[in-house]
Amino acid sequence: MKKLILMLFTIVLFSCNKKEETHSVEHSTSLIDTKNPLNKLKYDNKIDFYCKMDITKYGVSDTTHYKGKLYGFCAKMCKDEFLKNPEMYLAKK
Ligand SMILES: [Zn+2]
Repeated sequence: MKKLILMLFTIVLFSCNKKEETHSVEHSTSLIDTKNPLNKLKYDNKIDFYCKMDITKYGVSDTTHYKGKLYGFCAKMCKDEFLKNPEMYLAKK
């Protein structure tokens, strides 16, 4: 009987670990992650300049400072694209 309990316990532990692993997605489409400290910051943009995603809804995974303002992006790729030509993206706003 003791063995069975131990086995069940291991299965529960294992399934918990698996859940956490699936958390790292490059271009996140899941709803905002409140555990992410980046989502607690205030940004000067609400929409990701590159992919037009609503970062207030889906969260931020990368940020950049540009001319004293803080901008959030859903992914590093979007930030890099913005930094290639920030003036163009800001003019579109
Ligand atoms: Zn993006």
